Amino acid sequence: MSNDIDVLIAGGGPAGAALALLLHHAGHRVEVVTRLRDYPAIEGISRRSGDAMARLGLNRALATAHGPVARRVHWGNEDRAPNQEWLLPRPAFDRALLADLRQAGVSVREARVRGWHQHESGITVELADGRQRHARWGVEARGRQAARGHQRDAAPWATPALILRGSSNVSSAASLASSLPGGGWGWWARAAGHAYLQLALPQDQLDEARGAPLEWLECHPRLARCWDDTALEQHYLRPGLVARTLVRQGRLWRLGDAAMSVDPLSGQGIFNALSSAHGLAPVILGALAGEPLAPLTRFHQRRQDLLYWRFARAGRDFFRLAAKDDPAPYWLGRCHWPDHLPMHAIDAWARVRVGQAAAIIGTHLRQRELVITPDQPLGIYAVSGVALAPLVAAMKAGRLDLVRERLADLPKAQATGLRQWWAQQSDWPALPLPVNAGAPPRARR
Ligand SMILES: Cc1cc2nc3c(=O)[nH]c(=O)nc-3n(C[C@H](O)[C@H](O)[C@H](O)COP(=O)(O)OP(=O)(O)OC[C@H]3O[C@@H](n4cnc5c(N)ncnc54)[C@H](O)[C@@H]3O)c2cc1C
Repeated sequence: MSNDIDVLIAGGGPAGAALALLLHHAGHRVEVVTRLRDYPAIEGISRRSGDAMARLGLNRALATAHGPVARRVHWGNEDRAPNQEWLLPRPAFDRALLADLRQAGVSVREARVRGWHQHESGITVELADGRQRHARWGVEARGRQAARGHQRDAAPWATPALILRGSSNVSSAASLASSLPGGGWGWWARAAGHAYLQLALPQDQLDEARGAPLEWLECHPRLARCWDDTALEQHYLRPGLVARTLVRQGRLWRLGDAAMSVDPLSGQGIFNALSSAHGLAPVILGALAGEPLAPLTRFHQRRQDLLYWRFARAGRDFFRLAAKDDPAPYWLGRCHWPDHLPMHAIDAWARVRVGQAAAIIGTHLRQRELVITPDQPLGIYAVSGVALAPLVAAMKAGRLDLVRERLADLPKAQATGLRQWWAQQSDWPALPLPVNAGAPPRARR
């Protein structure tokens, strides 16, 4: 069986597209097999997701975004607009992802994948029309449905989303996230004359809203004001489960939502998808180069798991905040999973150490000296482009002279970025100040 393709990726959403580009640019033969999403939606992304897409060259996809709009949040008794977001109409965004891939020279096949077969030297994907494609490695990136049957550590509740979709006479883009009295929340968005409302509700409310969506909305004035005179065109239920998976089965790697799906409340699914691709690309490049699989698998798994638990705790904290003013069973039941640990561990200086571990350098995994902390157990290689381990090692050894010298050698922007980041680590000792301007110039080597 000939494997003309190095890596076959099933699913051309943000995760599959990002991975395809990274592997293609590294010189490998990649094919994406996908069908377009069959349900329309609007999803919100942050600036850092947009920046990540721009860096990858997903420019057509990024151009479908509307915004920026103020990310308005009404949660519990608080009104906030903490930052901005961009609104992505799907599946227009997904179509543009495929156009970006084709433009970059990646092979894209629009077909429905039925399943995978593994054999000794590779993997075969079976398409719905009976044809087959063979490759050395496969990647499962078909979204959260593809994780079904493989989930672990699932949240003890399901998160079905009721979606209301319609057309509006108002063309300006806007969004609002709001918790609801008695439990549940809604995210409303409007872009280019389309309006979208995503609802996560207690079961009795869900049944009511499914049966008579507009009547249900009338009882929720904040969301009703947003919906206003939008003409309802469709409402549908999207099943949802918060869970993670094992990231490799034989020659098949898992990516994006197919590896781990977080609560839509986090609004970070697309960021996760892109980040997941950045972590998997060097792992697959290592596998293609014949490197041992165990450490590669461990790296991808640990990275995914770290994100999974972090997002689970972020969701828990939102539920706790809502429960403070409204002790409804919906909120109280979600305040204790996954645990009671803080979302970010405090990086006590005494527990910060320097050690050898795998780091992503360009598109490869390399062993490097990293700074390993309770909050960043995978290690930090660089901050503002400056390798962190030598500085931490010098501070631990009390060699302030070496630290001062290293900082003085850095371009100003890098030194400032590093100092600002360091100052945010609340338990770390202060970096030595720069030498006074009036002091005699330091001899340069
Ligand atoms: C209701 C809801 C609201 C959300 N809102 C947001 C939000 O506001 N912001 C945010 O960042 N994230 C949001 N998310 C999460 C976000 O949609 C996902 O996390 C993200 O799209 C995952 O990317 P992916 O590439 O892994 O999967 P997907 O984007 O799901 O891509 C998978 C691709 O595989 C294709 N595919 C599926 N089955 C097959 C098959 N059999 N054969 C071939 N191709 C197939 C699909 O059509 C799709 O193109 C939301 C999720 C839900 C459920």
